[in-house]
Amino acid sequence: MLVTAPVEQLLTGFQLAETRCSFCKTALQEGDTVSAYAVQYAGDESWSVPRLYCRTCRSTIEDPTLGATELLAEGRLGLTMDATTQRTSLTLLGIERVAQSAPEDGRATL
Ligand SMILES: [Zn+2]
Repeated sequence: MLVTAPVEQLLTGFQLAETRCSFCKTALQEGDTVSAYAVQYAGDESWSVPRLYCRTCRSTIEDPTLGATELLAEGRLGLTMDATTQRTSLTLLGIERVAQSAPEDGRATL
């Protein structure tokens, strides 16, 4: 089944595996303003957020990847708690799309 939703909705509440800035390695915390780089490869239904940037290192999509939908969004970090496992995790909140590149943009890198 194909699920379609606005990317803002997909990324809101996205549970982050890495919560340090990809550039300066600053540990990011709840309430921090961040830029998130999200990518979805052609034929893949899921999105991943391989890179996160702090307010000062905010990035741009300089070199679009062919065959991937890439997205740069700004938002802040929030804390979500799972009452069952009592675990908290940092998630994305207040997402706004900054830049996007379509699968047909960019060039093949060999
Ligand atoms: Zn940084």
